[in-house]
Amino acid sequence: MPGKLNQDTDLVHACVEPEPKTGAILTPLYLSTTFVQESVESYLAKGFSYSRTNNPTVSVLEDKVAKIEGGCGSVVTGTGMAATTVVMSTFLKQGDHCIITDCSYGGTNRLCRVQFEKYGIEFSFVDFRDLENIKKAIKPNTKLIFSETPANPVLSLCDLEGISKISKENGIIHCCDATFATPVMVRPLDWGCDLTMQSLTKFYDGHNVGTGGAVIAKDPELLEQIKLCQNMHGNIMAPSVAFNILQTMKSMGLRVRRQSATATEVAEWLATHPKVKSVCYPGTTHPQKELADKYHRDGVHGAMLWFELDGGVDAGIKLMNNIERPWSLCENLGATESIITACAVMTHANMIKEDRLKVGITDGFIRVSCGIEDPADLIRALERALEKC
Ligand code: PLP
Repeated sequence: MPGKLNQDTDLVHACVEPEPKTGAILTPLYLSTTFVQESVESYLAKGFSYSRTNNPTVSVLEDKVAKIEGGCGSVVTGTGMAATTVVMSTFLKQGDHCIITDCSYGGTNRLCRVQFEKYGIEFSFVDFRDLENIKKAIKPNTKLIFSETPANPVLSLCDLEGISKISKENGIIHCCDATFATPVMVRPLDWGCDLTMQSLTKFYDGHNVGTGGAVIAKDPELLEQIKLCQNMHGNIMAPSVAFNILQTMKSMGLRVRRQSATATEVAEWLATHPKVKSVCYPGTTHPQKELADKYHRDGVHGAMLWFELDGGVDAGIKLMNNIERPWSLCENLGATESIITACAVMTHANMIKEDRLKVGITDGFIRVSCGIEDPADLIRALERALEKC
């Protein structure tokens, strides 16, 4: 296609050509595990030998994700956690140190503490809202800085440009998990990050159909290291999942903008409700509003918001038990369906209360992922449920 195209066009067309033999508009789904070679001399002439290493359907998704994120290439994996595992396994070894945000997806935090610490890798969990904390945590053996913005679930933001500057000055790799942002809102590689990662399970898939992850690299040397590690671990995405995500991601821009507009309406409405103590949404009320406005493109602040109910855990449980369709009471986020979660009794129930409160997940903390339903229906259902709290 001619020249540089806008993101919405790339989401539909980038890296996808009609299949030459039949004209099929979609990238074919190649389920084959192995690929027949014409001769020893022309081994790999067509680029494929074994699907753990390279699969034609999966490769198209990897190229497409890289293009959307502004990277030189990517690897896709079976889940978002698998993508985080690839990053940490590639760049950390025994005796190394990693600085990671103290407010991240709980699974990321657990992976560091339960899996990698036992291999002799050291982690400092610090508050990334202040760059000084990151600078102070640097040690001679620091090899990786791992940020997350907006962070799950409290939506704290980080200054990606500032962190990347610190990482460059100290020869440290900076990887950002931008799952909540999506490339529609923030492309970390544009702000100096070396790597970015996504749980594709969320907005890329966007339909609660499949799980996946991606690590996207800014430069080919890092990409090669990640690819090698992924291949050794066999940490891949199934071709059928890649095929689905190649279709669902086409509407990601549309969905995220709609979800963002709905989240703004819901946040504004919640802020007027007498039973709601506080609301946090980067587009309306957020303690780091300046960072939100600097980093979130075109005033799109995402599908995620949270609010706090008067009445703590009891009020949260009542809300969860009384909320009706179109809301769904479940985990996951970023999909067409609106999802509501009382974190203290659901996703973060296994955290020690003191730790939970320290990162801002109070007893009445309710996380919301806005879908693509009509916002008026969502607000009416919230109103009915709040009457019973
Ligand atoms: N990163 C973030 C910010 C997440 O919210 C999640 C899951 O909720 C993950 C990573 C892990 O993704 P997955 O569930 O696809 O393994």
